[in-house]
Amino acid sequence: MTSLGLEERYSRQILFHGVGAEGQHKLAASHVAVVGCGATGSALASLLARAGVGNLRIVDRDYVEPSNLQRQSLFSEADAAESLPKAIAAARQIATFNSQIVVEPHVADLTPENVETLLQGTQLILDGTDNFETRYLINDFAVSCSLPWVYAAAVGSYGVTMNVLPRKTACLACMFPDLPQGTFTTCETAGILNSAVSLIASIAATEALKLITGAEDCVRRTLLSFDVWRNERAELATDKPRTDCRACGQRDFVHLAGKGRPHITLCGRNSVQIHERQRPVDLAEMSQRLQAHGAVRHNDFVLKFWHEPYEMTLFPDGRAIIKGTSDTAVARSLYARYVGS
Ligand SMILES: [Zn+2]
Repeated sequence: MTSLGLEERYSRQILFHGVGAEGQHKLAASHVAVVGCGATGSALASLLARAGVGNLRIVDRDYVEPSNLQRQSLFSEADAAESLPKAIAAARQIATFNSQIVVEPHVADLTPENVETLLQGTQLILDGTDNFETRYLINDFAVSCSLPWVYAAAVGSYGVTMNVLPRKTACLACMFPDLPQGTFTTCETAGILNSAVSLIASIAATEALKLITGAEDCVRRTLLSFDVWRNERAELATDKPRTDCRACGQRDFVHLAGKGRPHITLCGRNSVQIHERQRPVDLAEMSQRLQAHGAVRHNDFVLKFWHEPYEMTLFPDGRAIIKGTSDTAVARSLYARYVGS
């Protein structure tokens, strides 16, 4: 199977007039980043990997949990049982259906400090994130170096997407100079239908194909939203960048210069993330040490420690997620007690 020729593997896509043999070669030579590999990111990465995007970079800091499996199509029960980082699990799964492309997983949060390193060398950025902070960061980076990117988001039964072509269309900051209303509705509060994710990821992935194969005249220039439950659809024109836009008009890239995320953040209900410590942790050694205090399990990527009523997930870079509390002081003291200050 590994020696499958381009013509054979992608024959049905090459037959499609919009792609053709030339488009397929452009896909094979392309470098695309998917930032965030949850539901939308999984669907985007899966579609683009199958379509033959030659170099796919996947950036995600989270690990697979059982509640992800309902919609995050690249992950298995085994990944959740192992608490594998999503970027790693995604790369492994993609290798089972397309071993001929290069997938570069990065277990990381996209921050102002690493955005350049993580996204340099890509020609297109796809949004699989779940928050506006990271989207504004992607927007500032993309606009500052004139890279196209595709905004995509889904929550409940609703999905929304928009293509940003710097200098040619509105950017995210043109459309939403400030955090949009309802930003705080998340999958954790409103739930999510996997079909809303699939729909919006399919539309975004198709726009990516157009951008890569050079069909820019077919690229949509609207902010498009769907509600798959109410059967509603809306579109807002995005064909004109705003001259007074902070990002693309005034070229004031506050999010690139930003300090990034605070060191301690609430992540979801009853859970706190600590990412202040920059020292690496030896998970095997830590596992030995924690055995006296509760149940502990680790692999190369992650350590899980249970100490009733808390559950701590620790990463090799020292980052931790503590479940069982929404009190950052409690989380910080637990961290200091078991990992170190
Ligand atoms: Zn703008």
